Amino acid sequence: MKISLFWFLILVFVIILIRSSVFERIHKYENEMKMLKQNVIHLEGATTQAKTTIPSWFNYRAGEFSGVAYKWLYGVDKGFWHIVNITRHCPNDECELVYIFEGRHTTQDYRCPLCGKYYHPHGDEYIRPLVRHSIGKKFGIDTKAVFA
Ligand SMILES: [Zn+2]
Repeated sequence: MKISLFWFLILVFVIILIRSSVFERIHKYENEMKMLKQNVIHLEGATTQAKTTIPSWFNYRAGEFSGVAYKWLYGVDKGFWHIVNITRHCPNDECELVYIFEGRHTTQDYRCPLCGKYYHPHGDEYIRPLVRHSIGKKFGIDTKAVFA
């Protein structure tokens, strides 16, 4: 009698373990799908694969290039991924930089509204190839086949 109660408790414990791991996976999948829906902006014309598959690099959405921090999102259009919504941030406090013109010739044309430091960030046309290059190196993929 004692032994069967022992095995019953073991069984209950195993069931609890399995259930929690299954729920954890479902929860993780739901979160990923929610994130994908929030971040994919242009879904028109996307292939079924691009719509349903979350790429390995999808969470790579921030990086520092030449002393300025950048953040971006990904969108899909006509089966190819695009780097969109690029924003410039202060590497010290992550605050979004503001374009300023103070009536003088300067290369420090952006300023952090929080700490007051000046920056000269890259334009989007420089950031896109830098991000693609970084994805290729970090995740070992041929970005030419994935990005427009
Ligand atoms: Zn700052």
